[in-house]
Amino acid sequence: MNPLWSQIARELSPYVPGEQPRITNLVKLNTNESPFGPSPLALEAIRAAAVDTLRLYPDPEATELREALATHHGVKPEQVFVGNGSDEVLAHAFVALLKQPKPLLFPDVTYSFYPVWAQLFGLACETVPLDDEMRVRVEDYRRAAGSIVIANPNAPTGIALPRSEIAQLLEVHPNIPVVIDEAYVDFSGESAVPLIADHPNLLVVQTMSKSRALAGLRVGYALGDARLIAALRRVKDSFNSYPLGRLAQAGATASVRDEAYFRESCARVVTGREAMTRELIRLGFAVLPSSANFVFASHPAKGGLEFAAALREHAILVRHFNKPRTAPYLRITVGTEHDTQRLIAAAAHVLGHE
Ligand code: PMP
Repeated sequence: MNPLWSQIARELSPYVPGEQPRITNLVKLNTNESPFGPSPLALEAIRAAAVDTLRLYPDPEATELREALATHHGVKPEQVFVGNGSDEVLAHAFVALLKQPKPLLFPDVTYSFYPVWAQLFGLACETVPLDDEMRVRVEDYRRAAGSIVIANPNAPTGIALPRSEIAQLLEVHPNIPVVIDEAYVDFSGESAVPLIADHPNLLVVQTMSKSRALAGLRVGYALGDARLIAALRRVKDSFNSYPLGRLAQAGATASVRDEAYFRESCARVVTGREAMTRELIRLGFAVLPSSANFVFASHPAKGGLEFAAALREHAILVRHFNKPRTAPYLRITVGTEHDTQRLIAAAAHVLGHE
């Protein structure tokens, strides 16, 4: 602890991102990246943007990208906000919307960045336990709240709520900000975007990091009533008015326009997820029903921490969250067919199945 640190810096417990190590022949299934790569049209657009005009600041409003997203989602451009990854968009939502006199509610097992932002920005929060099957129960949110954030599909469980249950939640809470974090929705979840028209308190956050394979570009966005978006813009313009560079805007816009590639790569991830799930079950794992690009699985013969460490010995990286309810599980990203073969062979070896 350094005396030059502010009180805030001293008291933080920062989010711990998944490792990005340099190990040769590594099978990297720990940060939910796409195994298939971005749209070739996005790569071409990024290359075309790497020219002399980089000396100029980018469009602070990311107009073209917001228009492309508006068309893709069937909303107006003023209903779209973009940021440097959905982490930044969510952080702005915490300040602009979720910080209210009454507490913010979110599940006890969810994206571990939520409590970090709550601490950084001084939000009071209450966690709502998942049920015994690790599901979000919408009825449990029938209580006094200042705001709500739910990841759907939830992370790290991968379990999705149908749109009808999000609609129920919004009926119970029509007058407080409700943020639905849809980082993983494109892998078979039902998006809440169609509910925006009737619910001016709903903000839906999505990312290009997973289904569009652009984690390295850092682009996320929010969709909602223009009055909610205006609050996000006020915060953004009090923090960093150029969050997306020229390359990011060009690549993201081209990706959104390449619908065919997007659909095909999501479908391939879903096929890979089903295959990986079958193999894990064959090895004796219990696998939660996933609508995401990862699965959350536990094995009766070995704890999560020990299993993750043993897989690392085989150069297979998976994620483990060392908290009481998540300790038995491994969160395993869907990789290529080859990645799954390596994972299953290593897991079989660890379990002594050979
Ligand atoms: N929400 C959830 C639930 C996530 O798992 C992640 C990825 N860590 C994010 C948001 C943020 O993703 P990004 O900043 O890459 O858009």
